[in-house]
Amino acid sequence: MKLNLNIEKTDNWLPNKNPIIISGPCSVESEEQVLQTALEVSKSKKVSILRGGIWKPRTRPNSFEGVGEQGLSWLKQAGNSVGLPVATEVANAEHVEACLKNNIDMLWIGARTTVNPFSVQEIANALKGVDIPVFVKNPITPDINLWVGALERINAVGINKLGAIHRGFSSFDKSSYRNTPMWEIPIELRLMCPQIPMICDPSHIAGDKELIPYVSQKAIDLDMEGLMIESHINPLVAKSDAKQQVTPLELDVLINNLIIREKHSESEEFINKLEQLRSVIDELDEELINKFSSRMSIIQKIGEYKHENNVTILQLERWEQILKNRSFLADKVGLSDDFIKKMLELVHQESIRVQTQVMNKSRVSTDN
Ligand code: PEP
Ligand code: MN
Repeated sequence: MKLNLNIEKTDNWLPNKNPIIISGPCSVESEEQVLQTALEVSKSKKVSILRGGIWKPRTRPNSFEGVGEQGLSWLKQAGNSVGLPVATEVANAEHVEACLKNNIDMLWIGARTTVNPFSVQEIANALKGVDIPVFVKNPITPDINLWVGALERINAVGINKLGAIHRGFSSFDKSSYRNTPMWEIPIELRLMCPQIPMICDPSHIAGDKELIPYVSQKAIDLDMEGLMIESHINPLVAKSDAKQQVTPLELDVLINNLIIREKHSESEEFINKLEQLRSVIDELDEELINKFSSRMSIIQKIGEYKHENNVTILQLERWEQILKNRSFLADKVGLSDDFIKKMLELVHQESIRVQTQVMNKSRVSTDN
């Protein structure tokens, strides 16, 4: 997919840190709470941006909905006291205007807003002619196009200090995560648009502070530029997302325990070895493609044969037998059952497509 983005160089607006840490409370609750949190989290010098939610989009009503506009000056003052830029979430044009009036340094669009192109467009219109960094969180639903679309809408009004935040996706399946990470989606976005920095929000993915270190490390290993981690001076009394907020001290320990790997190594031995291994991968991939091609030619022949003999495309017992036998073979060589089943599923879909084509082609030619 081609992206309609006009971004020359984005990463010069971001703090020059690896990883970039955005931290602060889920919600700004009082002047004192945000200031104390800022003072504590900034001690380690690892935090580069102070976050705080002012308007809280709640899934259900009657929960804490944020302190509203008055909190913007508390947030900004807390940032000033520790010399950090501040960021908050905006969900409509009024929020944008209030943030600009209070000199908020960066904005983000929340997951519940990214799903709605009308709201995103309203925010974009309010940002016309403004030079401010904007992060776009992934939409709640695992739809990469909504995410890309929101980035495009914001960029189209002239914002080119753009970032993406991966905060996981809502899922019906029970899992240990509050929001399933589905890492393949942020990876795909990075491939589509490598100039957009990707920040991971392990707090909203995990939903529980115990899981945050693991998710953070995974994000770092996937080469994301930074982490947004919710921290609170006293998480036990937090008015929102209490279970997933860490104390400033816990944040410090968590960051210190992260293993930051080198992106590249200059060592000649490493480069040679990597090149050797990559050339083997290239050969194996070529072999795989050729094998798939031979398999498809046979599938085509089977299709023709089935057609001549008036037999249906899908033969369930044969498919079940394939699944059972291939799982057995895969297990013997240490391949995961899940992987082999997904791969076979894809191959099977393609085979059905090829055979359907054979059937239809012959139908057209007999009709003629
Ligand atoms: C938040 O950052 O506090 C928040 C509400 O996040 P999300 O939009 O990812 O749910
Ligand atoms: Mn939160």
